Order: sequence, then C-alpha cells, then structure tokens
Amino acid sequence: MGKNERAERKCSICGKPFIPNKYRPNQEVCSSLECQYQRQLSNMKAWRGSNPNYFKYKESQDGSWKQACRERSLDWRRKHREYLQLYREANKERHREYMREYMRKYRQRKRKEQQKPEEA
Ligand SMILES: [Zn+2]
Repeated sequence: MGKNERAERKCSICGKPFIPNKYRPNQEVCSSLECQYQRQLSNMKAWRGSNPNYFKYKESQDGSWKQACRERSLDWRRKHREYLQLYREANKERHREYMREYMRKYRQRKRKEQQKPEEA
C-alpha cells in the first residue's frame, strides 16, 4: 500500500477533522461554508493589514487619472480647433445644399398634389 497523502487534518477554524482537497494538499480550513467565509475574512484583514496605503494610493491614482483625461481632451480640442472649424463650415455648406434640394422636392410634391383632384 502506498502512503496516504490525504490524511485527515484538523480545521484551523472549527477544529473538526477534514480531508484536504486533492489539489490543495496544504489546506488548513475545512470546506464548510462558515469556515471558508471566516478564512476569506481573515485573509482580507491580513492583506489590508500589510497594505494599509492601498486604498489611499488607489484614490490618488484615480484622481490623477481623471486629471490626465481632462488635459488630454483639452489638448485634443486645441490641436483640432482648426479642423473642427473647417468641418463645421463644410457641414454648413452641405446642410444648405441639402435644404435647397429638400425644398425643391417639397415644392414639386405640392405642385403635383394641387394638380391632382382630391379623392373623397
Ligand atoms: Zn472548519
């Protein structure tokens, strides 16, 4: 008989014996929901304890990120002001053209309607 690698252990939270997961032979906590929850809580506490500046750091990062975005979009607008102006001018011209065409068709339609006797 080979040696039994999956020997029983005592859960470090509830103290009940359990058999470690095949894939996690160093498992110290049994698989009960309560113990897994406790384990996550204490992991989080330990992690926060060893990274006390993480959340402050993240906030400062977010702030500078927003600032960078604002500056980037201002920069973009500065660089493209000329282009935007040209674009608007071109569109104005196109819009005028479009309206002329639209009115022409509209008048044609009206004329046809007036020529046709209305059906009751
Ligand atoms: Zn347990």
